[in-house]
Amino acid sequence: MRIVVIGAGILGASTAFHLARSGAAVVVVDHAHAGRATAAGAGIICPWVADAPEPDFYRLYAAGAAYYPTLLAALGEAETGYRHTGALCVSDSSDALDAIEALARRRAAAAPAAGEIRRLSPAEARRRFPPLRSDFAAVQITGGARVDGRRLAAALLRAAEAAGAECRPGLASLSLHPGGAPLVWLDGEALAADAVVVTAGAWAPALLRPLGLALAIAPQRGQIVHLHLPGAATGEWPVILPPGSHYLLAFDDSRVVVGATRETGAGFDHRLTAGGMAEVLAEALRVAPGLADATLAETRIGFRPIAADGLPMLGGAPGVPGLFIGNGLGPSGLTIGPYAGALLAALALGETPALPLDRFAPLRDVTPQRSAALR
Ligand code: FAD
Repeated sequence: MRIVVIGAGILGASTAFHLARSGAAVVVVDHAHAGRATAAGAGIICPWVADAPEPDFYRLYAAGAAYYPTLLAALGEAETGYRHTGALCVSDSSDALDAIEALARRRAAAAPAAGEIRRLSPAEARRRFPPLRSDFAAVQITGGARVDGRRLAAALLRAAEAAGAECRPGLASLSLHPGGAPLVWLDGEALAADAVVVTAGAWAPALLRPLGLALAIAPQRGQIVHLHLPGAATGEWPVILPPGSHYLLAFDDSRVVVGATRETGAGFDHRLTAGGMAEVLAEALRVAPGLADATLAETRIGFRPIAADGLPMLGGAPGVPGLFIGNGLGPSGLTIGPYAGALLAALALGETPALPLDRFAPLRDVTPQRSAALR
């Protein structure tokens, strides 16, 4: 079976990897747009304390986190930046921490991947993340982890290529065969396929429009900052989750990542803004004043692909046989994407995915409601 995957962010890279491993002949086309979400994503994996009221969504989110060890084992020695550092939900309000602890304990009881839930004093929290302010206590979720989205997507593509996939750079377009099936075009060449998987992130609506499909996805801009703390051994530092949507996490190279803005309506405006940087840095220093002397090492901008109802889109396109769509991973795609890629691959191969995907029909009626995910 020959399958073309359009878009090689975390979702497309994982789909291609799972398809190639199953023996399909895979072609992956990617344009590497400035602002692709996977290249900017922070990399927090901790669904068990997220504000995720929709049960189907939470099930997918938690399954995404639980899938990581299986995926990494399949990838072998690849460097992905993944580490089980644990996560600390921090606050100066013991009432707020009580509520988080209760939620985390309830969810962890049904999710071994969440690990243990512990209460930490301010001193214990600071010992694990030294720049943290001194009056913040914490709820620790030992199963929390972080990953480098760029490295993981690259590792998945390398593994897909090793299993026979072909990666082609460029901007793909779509038309319809007379029989109604999708036809992929790249640089004037038609790419023959039995199935087409569109994992084109925030750019997917433009790609699908010529087929008469209106995908209700919009870009949500995120500005994020990487700080460097010369000499600090940050590799084991936990993810820090204060109340709200901002966060801090660390990587091995004395790097602390702080983010991020959530700018709905900013469109594809690939710019850092004064207001965005001020928001991100002010919130980071409010939570971790010990970062004030860190070096500003890097800034990134990403367009989260997000549906108006906040839910993912994973499934076939009614009326277009052989077309499958994966999208809408919003602020949670580095957690969900690797697993969702396995589900999409199963669909494209005509198999039954391991999780029912009816709730995530890509062309469902999307009415705005409370966002389904926090981080
Ligand atoms: P993308 O990564 O955007 O990839 C889409 C790809 O399709 C691009 O490479 C693009 O060039 C390509 N493409 C589009 N159109 C075409 C075409 N016509 N032809 C060829 N190629 C095309 N998630 C978490 O779980 N934890 C986090 O901590 C986290 N933090 C985040 C922080 C920020 C600032 C941002 C922006 C996101 C964060 N996310 C996080 C969310 C996560 O990064 C995204 O949900 C995820 O990366 C989306 O992946 P994707 O593959 O759907 O899209």
